[in-house]
Amino acid sequence: MNFHVITIFPEMFDSYLKESIIGRAIKDKKIRIKFYNPIDFCEPKKRVDARPYGGGPGMVLRPELFLKAFSKIKIKDNKRTKIILFSPAGKKFTTEYAKKSAKKYTDIVMISGRYEGIDARVQKILKAQEISIGDYVLTGGELPAMVLIDSISRQIPGILGKYESLEEERVSSSEVYTRPEIFKYKGKNYKVPKVLLSGHQAKIEEWKQRQK
Ligand code: SAH
Repeated sequence: MNFHVITIFPEMFDSYLKESIIGRAIKDKKIRIKFYNPIDFCEPKKRVDARPYGGGPGMVLRPELFLKAFSKIKIKDNKRTKIILFSPAGKKFTTEYAKKSAKKYTDIVMISGRYEGIDARVQKILKAQEISIGDYVLTGGELPAMVLIDSISRQIPGILGKYESLEEERVSSSEVYTRPEIFKYKGKNYKVPKVLLSGHQAKIEEWKQRQK
């Protein structure tokens, strides 16, 4: 999977993408992440943003710089490429969407806005799908891009490891416990649910299903 991120703040991704499972996936070349910065296409002494037509508080990102950044992306197969533009008003991102994307695409382009957003003509010209990661407004589309990279990558075979991904399908649950059996905290005992210690696999399964 190739992720292409158009952002004016590519450095924001550095520490997150370096560590743990995603860091390993990049090292093992199971995923690739490329950045395209609209600022690189900005004329000297000009700004990447401009005042909105019709008035309003924030600034709007200029369309031509985002389209120039987009033109640098090498798209091999249109059918297997998805173009996403982040917006709090977009279609809600879900695990189901992540699963389908991991199967269907080889390239995912993600366009991250800032300030009041990107001039709407970018979305129209590229026919990008507007995606929201939740019902709240963030200061930019960089966290949403990291959320998609993370969530889609863990659906790609071999990234979580065979064991972890099989286990997840079979026996994952929201409440999880590890040692000790009885955890003392401020004079109180917090116990692991008895059923998990019972060794009774069918009952454990049933308990896990109920947690979901
Ligand atoms: N003027 C916009 C808000 C812009 S927020 C409005 O009223 O809807 C600035 C940028 O942050 C957006 O362009 C988008 O890329 C990103 N963003 C903010 N919240 C988001 C969310 N919940 N999901 C996805 N992207 C979001």
